Amino acid sequence: MKRRDFIRGSLIAGAVAAAPKRSRAAAEGKPALLGGEPLRKTPFPSWPVFDETEERSMAGVLRSGKWNRGSGHVVSRFEAEYAKLLGAKACLATANGTSALLTTLNALDIGPGDEVIVPPYTFVATINVVLARHAIPVFVDSDVETFQIDAHKIEAAITPRTALIMPVHLGGNVADLDTILEIAGKRGIPVVEDACQAHLAEWRGRKAGTFGKSGCFSFQASKNLNSGEGGAIVSDDSDFIERCYAFHNNSRGRSTAGYDFSYRARGLNLRLTEFEGALLIAQMTRLEAQSRTRGQNAAYLTSLLREIPGIRPASMYPNCTRNAYHLYMFRYDPAKFRGLSRAKFMRAMDAEGVPVSGGYSPLNKEPFLKNTLTSKGYKRIYGEKELAGWTQRNHCPNNDRLCEEAVWLTQTMLLGPRSDMQDIASAIQKIQRSSADLAKA
Ligand SMILES: *Cc1c(COP(=O)(O)O)cnc(C)c1O
Repeated sequence: MKRRDFIRGSLIAGAVAAAPKRSRAAAEGKPALLGGEPLRKTPFPSWPVFDETEERSMAGVLRSGKWNRGSGHVVSRFEAEYAKLLGAKACLATANGTSALLTTLNALDIGPGDEVIVPPYTFVATINVVLARHAIPVFVDSDVETFQIDAHKIEAAITPRTALIMPVHLGGNVADLDTILEIAGKRGIPVVEDACQAHLAEWRGRKAGTFGKSGCFSFQASKNLNSGEGGAIVSDDSDFIERCYAFHNNSRGRSTAGYDFSYRARGLNLRLTEFEGALLIAQMTRLEAQSRTRGQNAAYLTSLLREIPGIRPASMYPNCTRNAYHLYMFRYDPAKFRGLSRAKFMRAMDAEGVPVSGGYSPLNKEPFLKNTLTSKGYKRIYGEKELAGWTQRNHCPNNDRLCEEAVWLTQTMLLGPRSDMQDIASAIQKIQRSSADLAKA
C-alpha cells in the first residue's frame, strides 16, 4: 500500500472510529497488563502527515538541480514565510534546533567565563549549546504546576557573570515571560527563548519566540513542524540575524557568494538544505489546523483528567494565550492509585493501547555535566575551586519531584478525533479501578 493511500485509509478509519463502542470487558474488566482485553486496539494518528503537496514541493527542488541554499531560493522563501507567520522581522533557517541555539549564543558572544540561566527540565540540547561555548549552565528550579522554569527563582541565581537567561517553552506551554523579561530588563541581561517545542504558542496573543533577543525553533522529526532535521532563529534585530547568518555560513556574509574568500569572524556550516526548506513550506500549510486540533483535544482531555483523583494536568500561566502542545503533560500521584508505581502505571497504560512516557530525568544531576565541568578545558578557564562550588548552586528539589511524577503523551496523540481523549481518560480510570491488583502483581 502506498503511503498516501495508507494516510487516506487511516483518516477514514479514524472517522468511522469517531464514536467507538467499547466492550464492557475492554473498558471495565481485567487490566490488559494482567491479561485482560486492551481498552484500545486502534493506533493513535501516525506522524508525519503528508501528501502530494510535500511530494510536489520536494520534487521541484530535485528537478531544479539547486539543492543547497547558495544556489536556490527555497530556504529564503521559507524564512520570509516563517518570520511573517510569527510576526518577527527576520528569520534565519539552520540545520537544526541545536545549531539555531548555538548560532544565537555565538552572535551574543556567550563564551568562557559566562553563566547562562537554564531550566533543568528540558531536552539536553539546551544545555549542550552552553557547554559548547565553554560557558556554565546555572539551573533554576522548575514550577511543578506548569513544568516551566520557576521565574520567581531566577533573580536569586543571577551573578555578575550571568550573561544570558534562556527559558524553554517546554512542551509548547509558555514560560512566565512577564516575570522573566522584567528581571532581565532590570538587570540588563539578554533573554533567548528556546522555543524548539513551541511553534505557534502565544503569550498575551503574541507568538512565543518573539519576546527575547531571539527565539530558536526545531523542525526535527518529532516536532510540531517537521522537516526531518531543521531549525530557525527569529529576531526583530536584522543586524543580529545577519551576524547569525555569517556564523552559520562559515563566517561568510550573504554578498560573498562565489570566490570571495574573506572572513570577518569564526563560523561553522549550519545551513538548511533546499529540500528541507521545500518540505517546511509544505508542512507549514498544515500547522495552523493541526495546532487548533491539538489545542481543542488537549482542552477536552484536561477537562476529563481533572476529574480523576491523582492526575494533575500541567497548568498554564494566565498570560499563555495559546499552548502549542508539543507534549501533553500531567503529574501522577501513586497514593491515589493504591501505591501503584509510576513505572507500572505507564506499563499498564501501554498495555491498554495508550502509549505514555515518563519524560526527562534531572539534567542538573547528569554525570556527563560533572565530567564536562571537571574536564581539562573547564579547569583551565575557571579553576578547580570555583567549579567545586557549582554543584551546591544547582539543587532543584522541585524538579527532582517533577521528574518522578511526570507522564507525557506525544503531540500526535492529540491529532485524532475527540473520542481518542475519552479513551485516554478511560484507560487511566480502568487502571485506577484495578490499581490494587496491578500494584500486587
Ligand atoms: C528538539 C529540541 C532542541 C534541539 O533541536 P534539534 O533540532 O533536535 O537539534 C532544543 N531544545 C529543545 C527544548 C528541544 O525540544
